[in-house]
Amino acid sequence: LPIEGPQAGPLTRRRTIGVNVGGVLVGGDAPVVVQSMTNTDTADIDATVAQVAALSKAGSEIVRITVDRDEAAAAVPRVRERLERLGLDVPLVGDFHYIGHKLLADHPACAEALAKYRINPGNVGFKDKKDRQFGAIVETAIRYDKPVRIGVNWGSLDQELLTRLMDINNDLPQPKSARAVTREAIIQSALMSAELAEEIGLARERIILSAKVSNVQDLITVYRDLSRRTNRCLHLGLTEAGMGSKGIVASSAAMGILLQEGIGDTIRVSLTPEPGGDRTREVQVAQELLQTMGFRQFLPIVAACPGCGRTTSTTFQELAEKIQSDIRENMPVWREKYPGVEALNVAVMGCIVNGPGESKHADIGISLPGTGESPAAPIFIDGKKAATLRGPNIAADFQLMVSDYIEN
Ligand code: SF4
Repeated sequence: LPIEGPQAGPLTRRRTIGVNVGGVLVGGDAPVVVQSMTNTDTADIDATVAQVAALSKAGSEIVRITVDRDEAAAAVPRVRERLERLGLDVPLVGDFHYIGHKLLADHPACAEALAKYRINPGNVGFKDKKDRQFGAIVETAIRYDKPVRIGVNWGSLDQELLTRLMDINNDLPQPKSARAVTREAIIQSALMSAELAEEIGLARERIILSAKVSNVQDLITVYRDLSRRTNRCLHLGLTEAGMGSKGIVASSAAMGILLQEGIGDTIRVSLTPEPGGDRTREVQVAQELLQTMGFRQFLPIVAACPGCGRTTSTTFQELAEKIQSDIRENMPVWREKYPGVEALNVAVMGCIVNGPGESKHADIGISLPGTGESPAAPIFIDGKKAATLRGPNIAADFQLMVSDYIEN
């Protein structure tokens, strides 16, 4: 499936089996879907509704919530109802571990309200005495016509499978490293669980796989291998990516490479929020990752130079910031009124060294006066010089010009 990005050349997206998650298509011909997860106690209905609403409004197309005990399972249908009253139909995914089979059996309204169930084969195994747990969740998914994500995580990997593969490896003439065997165990856990789910009767179009690790190179290796071995729909994410810039860089590096190779149908950027931090940051980062790579368009891009000794004031940074925040504020209305506004490129540059050139590449751009330059700011629209702003109101005048450009 060739995808033409605004900045990238044609890429080949690996075609996977599409899965409908509560009305959102993941895989197949669909664009890469952004999803996120709450960190509220799901039993706290007010807090969970507020966070799901915030994530959804920020652009999360699917939201996962923890379902870890009876109180949480009982809250799920009420969360769903409250969201619908707010006019939000974002699909909710239930994150189940250990006792998911029991919670789904005891809370049919929860099973119905969720758009997808996440199963961790590492703690709801697929063999011996644990068979019933995995099978019961899959049977519930079949009964309620829901998809599942078989989500393997190396922090909770099936230890029996890992031990078996280690034993086989140790008997080889040239054994592989323990890390390589662990990667193989992650992949096999996902593939074998998917096969078992199908044997139980779940359709291929109802299965999404993930195989998350926290190391960038391991993640790339695991997903490359996984995508060579299956055409199942893939959920991509670096688990335990970490806080702040570390988490953003690690997630972007790992997922950027895989997405560039056409691997991944939906992404979650797992960031550890600062205490009291905004959970929607992970949605913003996921969107920016997809947009900067040219896969999707969510918000107009504001290109700004980093500034240097040629800029003596912070005017241009303030202007770039103001334009960006104006755009965020107005997007709900602009998106409705001006289809395609997401593709807008604005340039805010600090001086004439790169200012005019960069501005010409944007839809609308300004080159503010740097040190020693005449106090004039040339404006470029659609690649041509359209005006020169002067005086104390350059910033406000440019903001108006951006709004006019969008409206016209
Ligand atoms: Fe410095 Fe001008 Fe380059 Fe901005 S465009 S970084 S102000 S030289």
